[in-house]
Amino acid sequence: MADAKGNSWEEKDRANVLHGFTDFPSLKENGPVILTHGEGIYVFDVHGKRYLDANSGLWNNVAGFNHKGIIEALTAQAERFPGYHSFFGRIADVTVALSERLIGLSPFDSGKVYYTNSGSEANDTMVKMLWMINRRKGQPERRKIITRINAYHGVTIATSSMTAKPYNSEFGLPLPGFLHADCPHYWRFALEGETEEAFTERMARNLKDLIEREGPETIAGMFAEPVQGAGGVIPPSKGYFAAIRPVLREYDIPLVADEVICGFGRLGEMWGSDYYDIEPDAIIASKCITAGYYPMGAVILGEELTAALETACEAAEEFPHGFTAAGSPLGSAVALKALDVIENDGLIDNVRALTPYFLERLYRFGEHPHAGEVRGVGFMGAIEIVADKKRKTSFDGKLRISERIANKALEKGLICRPLGASVVLAPPFIITREELDTMFDLLEETFAAVFAEIG
Ligand SMILES: *Cc1c(COP(=O)(O)O)cnc(C)c1O
Repeated sequence: MADAKGNSWEEKDRANVLHGFTDFPSLKENGPVILTHGEGIYVFDVHGKRYLDANSGLWNNVAGFNHKGIIEALTAQAERFPGYHSFFGRIADVTVALSERLIGLSPFDSGKVYYTNSGSEANDTMVKMLWMINRRKGQPERRKIITRINAYHGVTIATSSMTAKPYNSEFGLPLPGFLHADCPHYWRFALEGETEEAFTERMARNLKDLIEREGPETIAGMFAEPVQGAGGVIPPSKGYFAAIRPVLREYDIPLVADEVICGFGRLGEMWGSDYYDIEPDAIIASKCITAGYYPMGAVILGEELTAALETACEAAEEFPHGFTAAGSPLGSAVALKALDVIENDGLIDNVRALTPYFLERLYRFGEHPHAGEVRGVGFMGAIEIVADKKRKTSFDGKLRISERIANKALEKGLICRPLGASVVLAPPFIITREELDTMFDLLEETFAAVFAEIG
């Protein structure tokens, strides 16, 4: 496929596009994949090649790539009232309707919603809210934010500081005052002979020690994903949230659940917080909120943080923060429809119904000599590749093993994601049992081909 001047889309991409979070050696070798459209769980490139997207785009296109109802909601709203902001007390009616819906879906009896355009902006906003609340309460030193190793909370300067991954050292981050607690990944971080229960207790004890060491009066909040997503699909160790909750309560530290991936059905429940009984003080939502059809993020504050923030804003006479395009009527109409489709048109039911089969086929990879750990919950799964199963050692970085698997899969028409040493699967909520079989068959063929190559 080429344009009138004979330039291919790939050449134009190379000439004009800078790709974020893209493996540069792979891009150089294989070129970009340029897509034209999607059908159900498949996307198509400019050459007509079809790919099964086992990652729902970036965890978010859960209703597939051409959902008629959501597209109609978008176009109908575009004809009625396509754009408006939410500053100065003005807002579109659909955005108010969405807010009521979100509070209804939330674990809170009452609360308030604040809109952004992304998950990063929502987390970043939450940090500012906590800082403002504490300053107005006369506790300006209460600013430190706790997250956990391997957490992913976004890419703004504050949220990169919260994202506890080594690559953020490229930017000289984290900023001071962003603390990284333990990652509750039992298989990876347990001590020799330590039971999972003892591991969880150690996680909670270490958190308490961290808080004591830093000074509880300096800590504004802790953010946690119910299941760490971009860290490589890491569910918490058994009893983790039940163990850390009392520690945070003891020091009056709010817990913010970053539900950007888990929210709206990924685990077969509306929230990861429901699944793990987290009892958060606020929820950060994005990704599935519009089924990937419109940029949107939201901070959903529970009752106490709503009251605290409103008190602070009354004293300051406003909340001096806002994104021009946030809470747009288009996004709101899309979200209302997407949530309806997820909740009432069988999507969340399908996740629930097919989770056992998804996990059964996922766990079959456990028999593979190089699958160190296979882990999954709901429609999230990861296969962590190791060179030596007993010692849990990685392959030589030069082999670029998970990248190689993802590239081989792509050749075979399967999109799956390399994350560190893991291969991650997060299928759309509309996937059928037969399509799950196709997905796993393709991945098995991919593993066979790649490990035959490296011997
Ligand atoms: C994707 C993600 C974010 C960031 O969302 P963006 O819309 O990419 O800014 C934040 N938190 C979690 C848990 C995520 O998975």
